[in-house]
Parts: sequence; C-alpha cells; structure tokens
Amino acid sequence: MSRLFVVANRLPVSIEKQGEKITYRQASGGLVTAVSAFLNKENNRFTQKTWVGTAGCSEKLWQAAADSIDTDYDFKPLFIPAKQYDQYYNGFSNSVLWPLFHYFPSFADYQPSFFESYLKVNVEFAGTLLRTLNADDTVWIHDYHLLPLAAMLRKKLPGLTIGFFLHIPFPSYELFRVIPREWQQELLSGMLGADVVGFHTEDYQSHFINCVKKVLKVRTENQEIYWQGRSVRTGAFPIGVDFERFNSGSTNLEVLSKRAEYLRSKQDKQLLFSVDRLDYTKGVFNRLKGYREFLVQNPGYRGKVVFALVIVPSRDSIGKYAERKSMIDEYIGNFNSRFGNIGWQPVIYQYGHLSFEELLGLYTACDLALITPLRDGMNLVAKEFVASRRDKQGVLVLSEMAGAAHELTEALLINPNDRKEIARMIRAGLEMSPAEQEERMTAMQNRISSYNVVTWAKAFFAELDKVRHAQQKSEPQLLDNFAKAKMLEKYNKAEKRLLLLDYDGTLAPFAANPGDAAPLPIVIQLLKKLGSDPKNSVYIVSGRDSVSLQNWLGHLPVGLIAEHGTKIRHQGNEWQVRSAPETSMALAEVERLMEQFVNQCPGSFIEKKDFSVAWHYRKADIALSGVKAKQLLNALMTSVNAAVLSVLDGHKVIEVKGANINKGLAVKELIQPQSQDFILCIGDDQTDEDMFKVLQDNKAAFTVKVGNEPTLAAHNVLTPYLVHELLQRLSITAEAMQTF
Ligand code: UDP
Repeated sequence: MSRLFVVANRLPVSIEKQGEKITYRQASGGLVTAVSAFLNKENNRFTQKTWVGTAGCSEKLWQAAADSIDTDYDFKPLFIPAKQYDQYYNGFSNSVLWPLFHYFPSFADYQPSFFESYLKVNVEFAGTLLRTLNADDTVWIHDYHLLPLAAMLRKKLPGLTIGFFLHIPFPSYELFRVIPREWQQELLSGMLGADVVGFHTEDYQSHFINCVKKVLKVRTENQEIYWQGRSVRTGAFPIGVDFERFNSGSTNLEVLSKRAEYLRSKQDKQLLFSVDRLDYTKGVFNRLKGYREFLVQNPGYRGKVVFALVIVPSRDSIGKYAERKSMIDEYIGNFNSRFGNIGWQPVIYQYGHLSFEELLGLYTACDLALITPLRDGMNLVAKEFVASRRDKQGVLVLSEMAGAAHELTEALLINPNDRKEIARMIRAGLEMSPAEQEERMTAMQNRISSYNVVTWAKAFFAELDKVRHAQQKSEPQLLDNFAKAKMLEKYNKAEKRLLLLDYDGTLAPFAANPGDAAPLPIVIQLLKKLGSDPKNSVYIVSGRDSVSLQNWLGHLPVGLIAEHGTKIRHQGNEWQVRSAPETSMALAEVERLMEQFVNQCPGSFIEKKDFSVAWHYRKADIALSGVKAKQLLNALMTSVNAAVLSVLDGHKVIEVKGANINKGLAVKELIQPQSQDFILCIGDDQTDEDMFKVLQDNKAAFTVKVGNEPTLAAHNVLTPYLVHELLQRLSITAEAMQTF
C-alpha cells in the first residue's frame, strides 16, 4: 500500500463565486471520470489519494471553499500568476504542442517566452509535489501540459515510481523535429523521467520511440528505452469509457424524457448527431461538407433528415479558436439558407454545454453519429455513443484518424478529407438494416465493455508494477572467463550437485511452432553425460506439457518438471501432480476467452496442458497480435481470481496456470541446503526468475540468465548455444574426473 499522487493541469473541481455565494462543481472530463472510476474500484490499493493541479481560481477563493469540498481525494492546488499561466496554457501547451501533435504545424506559434513559462510552471508543479512526496510514493502524471515534470521529480527522488500518460497523439519524427532542438530534448528527456510512458495507440508509441532514438540517440529494445541507467517502458493503453455509466444511464428517467423530447421534435425525420469541443482538430467543416455532399447527391433525402450539431465552448481566449467559431456560425447560416426552407432546416446548431442527461438523450435518440476528427488522440464521444445504445441500434460513422477507430472497427470508417466518402457512408448508415446495426453495435459493445475505463488504468498500473519489479533486478553481468573458471572449480570439488535447466530459450532456441523445438543431438548427448554422473541430479524445469518432455527427454537420466512445476517426474519414477484441483474449472473459462482471441487474431493458437492454458501469437501479424495480447492480458487481469490462477506474460505467449504453482516453488523441494555443494540454475524468461529468487542467497548456487535483460540471476549468457558450450565444459570436467 502506498500513496498515489495524480497530477494533471487542472484539479477536477471548479470553484465559482456568484455574488456572495461560493459554489463548487466537480469537473466531468474524460480524465476525471477515468481516474475516479479506477480508484473507486481499487479502493484498497492506495492508502491516500491526492490530486495535484492548478486551482483555476484565486487562493483566497479556494480557501473560502476548501472546507465544503466533499470528494474522495485530497487536493493540492497550485496558484500560478495569470500571465505565466496564460503563456504556459494558452501559449506553449495549446498554441505549440496541441497543434503540432495534432498535425497542424502551421498553427503553431513558437514564442520562446511560451516555452520559458511552460518550464517554470512545470518547476512549480515539481516544487509542490516534492514538498510532500516520499521515495516510496507513486505519481501518475497526465498529458501534454506536464511533459518535463517526470524528469524534474526523478532528479530529486531517483527511487520514485512515476507513470506518465499522454492523452493526445504523439506525432511522427518529421513533425516533432520542427520544434527547436533544445525544446525537443527537454520534452523527451522529461517524459523519460517516468518508469512507464503510456499512449493511446501503438502508432503514437512507436513515433515516440523513434523520436527518442533520433533526438536523444539512446538504445531501445522493443518497447523499452534505456536511459540514464534505467529502463523506461512504453506502452499503448487505449483509454476506455465507464461502460456501465453510459449503458445503464440510458434507462434513467430524465434521460428517457430528454430522448422522448428529441424524438418528438425530429418527427419522422432521421436524426444525425455530433458533439465536440470547439477545436480545429475535430473536422467540423469536413463533416458539414460531407453532409452537404450527401444532400446534393441524394436530393430525395432533403426534408427527411436533420443534423443536430453541438459545439461545446473551449479555449475561446486563443485566436484560432475564436476565429473558428465565427466561421462555423457563418457556414451553418449559409448552409441552412441554401438548402433549407420554411418547414425544414438541415442543420440544428447549438453552441453550449450539454448536461449528462441531454447528451445521453441525443446519443440514444439519433439514428447516426457523425464523428469526423482530422486527428484525435482517442475520441471518447464515439465510445460513449456505442456504450449508451442498449437497443443495439444506431450507426457510427467515424474518422479513421481518431484513436478510437483502432477498436471500433465495425463503425463505418471514413477519411475526413474525402467528402464523397462521408456522403456515401451517411447514406449507407441511414439505409442500414436493423439486423446489421445490431450486429455491428454488439461487436463494438463487447469490445469496449471488456476493455473499459477500469481495465485501462489497471493495465497501466500492471505495467508500472512490472517495471518497478524489473528495476529492482541488477543490470546484466555477462558470464566471463573468470566467473566460468570459478564455476568449474566449484563443480570439480563438489560431491553433490543439482543442475536445474529450463528448456525453451535455454537448451533449445525458440521455434515458430512449439512442437518444432525438439532437442538437438548435442543437448541429448550433454544431458546423458551430465545425468549419468552419480554426483549429479539434473532436472529439466520447463513450462511445457509432460507428454512433450517425456517424448523428448524421458529416456535420459534426468528428472523432469513440467508446466512450470505442476507435474514432476523424478528420474526413473512416475509423474506426480503438484497442482491444486480447483484450477481446472477456472482454466476452462480462460480457454473460452482465449478462443475469442484466436478468432480475432489469425495465426495465433491455444496450447492446452493439464493445468495450464496458453495463447501463442508468435506466428500472427506483429501489429495486430501486439494489440490483441495487450487486450487479452487486460481481460485476464479483470476476470481471473488471483488466488486460483496466475497469468504469465512470456515471449509471444500468454499463459495462465494455477496460482500456487511456479518453477521456484517446484525447485525449492529439490534443494537440500546442507548437502548440495554445487547448484547451477539456467533459464531465460520471467518464469525462471522464480527459480533465481529461491536461490538468491544460496552460497552453493550459480544462477545464469540467457539473454541480456535485467535479472535476479547472478550472470547472463547471450544465447542457448553458449549454454551448450558451458554444459560441455562441465561434462568434460566430469569425464576428466572419471578417468582419473
Ligand atoms: N462532454 C462534456 N460536455 C458536453 C459534451 C460532451 O463534458 O457538453 C464530454 C463527452 O461526454 C466526452 C468529452 O466531453 O467525454 C469529450 O471527449 P473527446 O475525447 O471526445 O474529445 P476531447 O474534448 O477530449 O478532445
């Protein structure tokens, strides 16, 4: 249990003074909803939750209202002088980073004073946090306003656990490089102060890794970045919505009455709907032009459709935004006068906020949601619309430039710059049969209800836990000649030895198909030699099923441990089961879930063992399987009872097995501290770390990890071939001793 600090530009409350009366309102944006939903469900994870952000009002007003604020968090408000805030928020955040990261480079205004204030405000955030933080706290930083903050905190508290999540796109290097070089370095190295840097999609993640490589010239491996002696993990965590809130909210009486009101006023017309903040990224003109094209191409629809377009006020003190507002007003005026008549207006336009009930009323009353951003980190409106349709009716027309399009693949996807395509899809949507609407809606709802807002945050924290765990391990120490000589000397002198050898990735290199990784003749030969030495007990400790191990190695003088310790066969004996019996039922559930992923991800397959089940994706498309693996892990994390089953994230495989089973517990039973004077344990993946852990303080043990990742093992060798070489040296020593 530790303390969590959620850090975002604004606190999730607004304090206002009307006359003498001071009121406060809880904010309802995507971030607040997401974080609150997660923390409510994971109530026991943190002993104290503090939200840090700017107050949005004067210190005096805050003090006057502070006592009446009733929330689940402690608040740490920041009060930034108005001019500095303006340059940080309207200036650098929203007139440099926002346009650039959304691919509007010509809208960016690179004023040095903006960047200076941006850094100063980040320093203010760091100061406020550092006054209360302890080294074992967790800090979760959000969004583009606070890119440099993680590094500022890391500098003062190197051991802190820091997560950073970016809620907007991260652009390709070609765009990122247009900002001044010094700023590029500051922003990227700032983000790398975190342990985990999260994005909505794999594209944004890979753009970031590419920028880091080009700008900071660092070493990266897969999704990890090695920076200043630490490894920083990047990940794609598409933010979800509170599915239940929208799904069950649609039956709320006030929502139903709003819906009825909208249905009455649309009469027999079909209703198109969209809602966005006022922002040039949202593609409002493209949408209107597509709708206009639709009316031109399909004159028969005039008078039979109506488009309710809601724009929510936003950032109106920035020139580009205010400009947009008057352009939209003018365009809609012309549109209605050109196409409409006394009895019909093609566009009903509202500029203002919607209450939750109005929003849900519109989501559930419309026939088609038309969402056409030119670029959008995620787009929650699209997901909320889908979540709210309990009737499984309604069509979503969605821009492929929205992050949400990666998950909402059954929407009618459009390119927002192709107005003819928008027109075609509007028509296709309005004419779609109820059965097809239901089919598409059901598929999308299944996806976003299982990967919802809580799974999003859980997945992020799971990654954070994993990184912290890995960081506690030491940096790789290659097994050099000196260490080898020491090992051989001990081996020679030893009277009773235990050799614990993992199979895949250690004795045998990985094969695309698990069945193809049969032992090479050299391995058979080595095991025969080592196993026949009366001073040796050799065990193959594998995740594989007992049948494969038996077929390949059963004839050798070695013991076998299968399925991560579920089954054991001492040399010359029968197999014994070590598993708890209640796991089978739970595993059947997991297998059903994995079957869905096999269907969604061609090339992946399930491997079933007696007490575990694994989903392999080595042979599937890299991009798709990466996304699916993450989704499966998230789904497992929410559905699996940790007391019964545990989930292993291996090399291109996700495996679920009995919780009280691991290689470490299995080999523990073989260790006899008083009598064995030489133990060698070699393994290559996360599951082998459990063995290394058990042997950590054992003076007789040599632990070796295959690969160059941080490990609990004392040494690393780089490939299975080097393991063969090492075992050969030992067996030669054994032979030499026998001939003496
Ligand atoms: N929304 C709102 N007030 C409104 C209309 C909408 O708070 O009057 C919410 C909407 O429910 C959604 C969010 O604003 O959760 C918009 O999120 P999205 O990701 O679609 O766009 P963003 O504004 O974050 O760019």
